[in-house]
Amino acid sequence: MISEFEIIRRYFTRRARTALLGVGDDGALIRPRAGTTLAVSTDMLLAGRHFFPDADPEKLGHKALAVNLSDLAAMGAEPRWALLAIALPRANGKWLAAFSKGFFRLARRFGIELIGGDTTRGPLAITITAIGEVPAKLALRRDAARAGDDVWLSGATGEAALALAYLKGRVKLGGRAREACLHRLHAPEPRVNLGRALRGLARSAIDVSDGLLADLGHIAKASRVAAEVRWEDLPRAEAIASCQNKALAKECLLAGGDDYELVFTAPRSRRSEVEAAARKAGVSVTAVGEIVAGKPGVRVRAAGGGTISARRAGFDHFA
Ligand code: ADP
Ligand code: MG
Repeated sequence: MISEFEIIRRYFTRRARTALLGVGDDGALIRPRAGTTLAVSTDMLLAGRHFFPDADPEKLGHKALAVNLSDLAAMGAEPRWALLAIALPRANGKWLAAFSKGFFRLARRFGIELIGGDTTRGPLAITITAIGEVPAKLALRRDAARAGDDVWLSGATGEAALALAYLKGRVKLGGRAREACLHRLHAPEPRVNLGRALRGLARSAIDVSDGLLADLGHIAKASRVAAEVRWEDLPRAEAIASCQNKALAKECLLAGGDDYELVFTAPRSRRSEVEAAARKAGVSVTAVGEIVAGKPGVRVRAAGGGTISARRAGFDHFA
């Protein structure tokens, strides 16, 4: 059996490069670079609720960090440090090695350092706190959208939710579509570079973790504006476009969670700059709607002018 301290030393200790003090003391010491503020975010992943208890540990290590990096991306922040609190039912060296491999591979890609955490025995649960830097005035927030802004979406939504429906036996998916959806669900790519490129350009942003309508709804509410989405302009991943179950595809597209794309708003006059920023970040973006004055909420408009109704807007743990 490996001890708690052996687990920390073997699987979670890496030399601190930028932290003044990393893993090993009662707390870490960090110093943000001059002119920046710290953007801090935490996300919890529970076995049986956010992932299957037998999930591939390497992908889980990736995903646990990715969902936190996605929050930093939505703030326009540059990832710097992370804390990892983990509860494990038992000390399984093979599992831990794979988990830390997935975690540190993604951490390295975005230059983020693990500087501390907590390790206890208990039902499998992973809580990561990610810390990034952003010049305060340039942070992307939910509360700054304005009437006249375009609504933009990176990539496309729906694949992660379609993967979940597939795993629950609600839909059949063929080869390529299945791979794409499962990859999206288990190994999401945080849009960190896009978030940074949108500093000073986007007026508001959020990452799509609960569903497009729900998350865009958060922008609308915080900004006290209404958002209109053009149904025909929503980008569709191959798996969504070819899905035979049209009602399910629609639900995944509008309300599916776990995609970790960014939805953001920017003045119409800056369209070409948004497109250039996305090109630089290597991500596709699509103008999918606009912000209008009115009661806070989200409406999906059909090409003919009517409104498309959605059975639900997104995921809610308590609804
Ligand atoms: P304390 O008793 O002060 O809470 P711990 O014994 O829990 O300290 O942790 C010892 C050190 O190891 C601390 O620096 C803590 O931040 C770090 N640590 C514990 N668990 C993890 C983990 N899962 N990942 C990274 N660092 C960890
Ligand atoms: Mg502790």
